[in-house]
Amino acid sequence: MSSFIETASAENEPLGIPLSELAEGWGKYWSTPAIPFWWRAAAPSSGPWPIPARKADVVVIGAGFTGLSAALVLARAGRNVVVVDAGAPGFGASTRNGGQVGSGNQKFRVKTLIQMKGERKAVELLREGIEMLDGIETLIKQEKIDCSFTRCGRFRGAMRREHYDGMARDLDDLKRYAGVESCMISRAEQRQEIGSDLFYGGSLLPRDASLHPGKYHAGLLNAVIKAGAAVHGQAAVRGITSGGAKHTLCFDNFQIQARDVLVATNGYTRDVGAFFRKRIIPIRSAQLTTETIPAHTFDELMPKRRVYGNTNRVFFYFRPAPDENRLIWGGRANHFASDSALAAYVHLARDALRTFPVLKDVKVSYAWSGLIGYTFDEFPHLGRTPDGIHYAMGYCGTGISRSTHFGRKIALKMLGKAEGRSAFDELGFPSHFFHAFAKPAVPAVEAWYRVRDVMGL
Ligand SMILES: Cc1cc2nc3c(=O)[nH]c(=O)nc-3n(C[C@H](O)[C@H](O)[C@H](O)COP(=O)(O)OP(=O)(O)OC[C@H]3O[C@@H](n4cnc5c(N)ncnc54)[C@H](O)[C@@H]3O)c2cc1C
Repeated sequence: MSSFIETASAENEPLGIPLSELAEGWGKYWSTPAIPFWWRAAAPSSGPWPIPARKADVVVIGAGFTGLSAALVLARAGRNVVVVDAGAPGFGASTRNGGQVGSGNQKFRVKTLIQMKGERKAVELLREGIEMLDGIETLIKQEKIDCSFTRCGRFRGAMRREHYDGMARDLDDLKRYAGVESCMISRAEQRQEIGSDLFYGGSLLPRDASLHPGKYHAGLLNAVIKAGAAVHGQAAVRGITSGGAKHTLCFDNFQIQARDVLVATNGYTRDVGAFFRKRIIPIRSAQLTTETIPAHTFDELMPKRRVYGNTNRVFFYFRPAPDENRLIWGGRANHFASDSALAAYVHLARDALRTFPVLKDVKVSYAWSGLIGYTFDEFPHLGRTPDGIHYAMGYCGTGISRSTHFGRKIALKMLGKAEGRSAFDELGFPSHFFHAFAKPAVPAVEAWYRVRDVMGL
């Protein structure tokens, strides 16, 4: 199988719409090719794909970070592994994300986590978050994956004065309970970190990182293939029947029998059974990438080239492109517009200009979206269904380190290894009677969150 990295022309800038025009909604009726910027350097391969073998020790459904990380461990342990994906391997969130790598420990305030889970479990969960962040760096080094992984640090801007104080207390707790180093940057010092006055100061987590997700995915995929696993694109599982000690996976024109199955489909989960349908809520998230910005402007806006976010419920986040002076901006997609309509991205341009008004004439070159997998308790989950199907999913938008870690953990569990134990094991994967309405309700919940952000509720 040939290399999965296809290089597109550097001149290829698909959109070319000034941020200010997009922010005013002029592009409302324009359509966009919705190509992720990352695919310029590492596009998922379009095949062709041979039909997989009819029998396997393990079938992994989903060829994103979770599935590949698991397949690597399983194939190296000598298992006959078949990885299948409904699209091209890498078609899902793994090559569409913002490339911001964290521990996931900011999902809940430490005090909230302790209230929910008790102090001992909370500390275990926080420590495993740090392990995930360190683990992805180790894997990238071991596998020699060239994906611009950098411990660039994360600045998180406070959208209100009281958010600043809340963050400061939380970071004290994070240090006390899990030994995480961080510091607060006051509003007076903020310009050393960011060329914007939007924030009331912010927090700095110096160990958080960035990478090129397309290249990270391509590197993992090559490692998995080298380890002996078979990877097949355009192979959508339409149903699974389980009986005795084996599972039968049905595809459009064939079936595969496997001793073990791993569902690694996260926000793209479909056709793999009611257990998952009731537990995962797909939420669309979007990204923009600008053209190259002159170096002197860029140096003022992001002098330390970190990754950045804010404290609002309807969160936006941004970063520089690896080794290029382009801004990559992310946030929730507009649910009322399709992926290919520029209207889906108008609010991202507005947030970008609120933060950096000087960029009004800078053109947007790429706009795209993808699906993140949310859970009802906002924790990620790994384990086994009553039918004996393994799963790892539900990263709630912080999935680069978590999916890599959960893929490895679930594979170790499948091999019966003690190292497969995780602090996330006993959390229980909640379903909700509300699941049938959860997806349609997302826009209303988001609109309510926006109101609360504006009103400070
Ligand atoms: C726009 C966006 C920005 C993000 N930004 C960040 C970020 O900056 N930092 C961060 O940590 N996380 C981020 N995330 C989240 C992160 O990308 C995901 O959590 C992570 O990639 C999940 O990996 P995965 O392998 O579990 O799933 P995915 O990469 O989504 O792969 C799942 C695969 O399953 C396949 N599939 C589904 N059903 C079937 C079926 N029936 N048969 C066969 N195949 C099937 C799909 O085709 C898909 O390719 C972002 C996500 C998005 C969408």
